[in-house]
Amino acid sequence: MITRSPVVLQRQATSQPDTVPLILPSAWQAQLSDAIRDPGELCRRLGLDDGWLPGAERGHTLFEVRVPEAFLARMRHGDPDDPLLRQVLPLAAEGKVVPGYVADPLEEADHTPARGLIHKYAGRVLLIASPVCAVNCRYCFRRHFPYEQNAPSRSQWEASLEYLRADTSISEAILSGGDPLAASDRQLTWLVERLDTIPHLKRLRIHTRLPVVIPDRVDDALLGWLSATRLQKVVVLHINHANEIDDAVVAACARLKGAGVTLLNQSVLLRGINDSVDALATLSERLFEAGVLPYYLHVLDPVAGAAHFDVTDEEARELVAGLRETLPGFLMPRLVREIPGEASKTPL
Ligand SMILES: *Cc1c(COP(=O)(O)O)cnc(C)c1O
Ligand code: SF4
Repeated sequence: MITRSPVVLQRQATSQPDTVPLILPSAWQAQLSDAIRDPGELCRRLGLDDGWLPGAERGHTLFEVRVPEAFLARMRHGDPDDPLLRQVLPLAAEGKVVPGYVADPLEEADHTPARGLIHKYAGRVLLIASPVCAVNCRYCFRRHFPYEQNAPSRSQWEASLEYLRADTSISEAILSGGDPLAASDRQLTWLVERLDTIPHLKRLRIHTRLPVVIPDRVDDALLGWLSATRLQKVVVLHINHANEIDDAVVAACARLKGAGVTLLNQSVLLRGINDSVDALATLSERLFEAGVLPYYLHVLDPVAGAAHFDVTDEEARELVAGLRETLPGFLMPRLVREIPGEASKTPL
């Protein structure tokens, strides 16, 4: 038995918590910094044989490994084909140069009137709210994005806010990244309070994978500023496979809905991960059980290092036709591609 000092006993008597320093990082921040960052550790933890290691190390030099424990826990041990592992495990194939696969496939560098701001589509502007992601997805079109140059300082934020204030055609601010929810709640509160004061803004949209990979991110501090804004709120999650949705994710979704958030999901169609009617149908069903509607199914952006994930357009159309035969219309994601220079995402 633990002997308690009189001081502690006295604290307990007044029902104060024992030892809670005021500046403890949030549970989610600790999980973020404890994420697996080493390809060898990733292979070991999942019981993969040594044959996977050289490829993992090679890929890691191109785009570093990052996998939170809470996401790892949903993977099958000893199965290199696990659909969650495949999203985060670097492979030797990433080093292959494939014609047409480039560093900035969306030519976003051409659409940044202020640092950390991308204005490509009418009425909505994308703000890079955090340069960091909670997980590094191997297929990501931003894997070569110059994040450091796009992590705005306070004064750069003022410039972005000025841009939004000056253009009355903008009705929606989209927080993106990186993962915008990797920013601290203090920063996000500051930003959203200012967005609130721009009269022509109606909606706040957040594109994030954090509630999926670290469900504890949806804590009281986050729900606080989300509930406080006058803007209508849409959170677009990014889930590619039904196995990503465990009970903790369902609970995080319920908390977001409780704060008045409309929940949507976007996926990327990925070879070896969700390229079957069954996988996509199960994903849609599971999303709806969690209170999330499927929004987009993106075909892969041709980013260098990700060619091995590609599904051809013909296969993609067949999959979606098959999906339409099994799902109600409201559970059908829209199959789209992003084409540089177009005024919206392009339906296939
Ligand atoms: C996808 C995207 C949007 C949002 O497009 P929606 O079709 O409204 O979802 C906005 N800005 C950029 C730069 C985008 O890539
Ligand atoms: S931006 Fe999204 S898809 Fe890309 S690495 Fe981050 S979480 Fe993954």
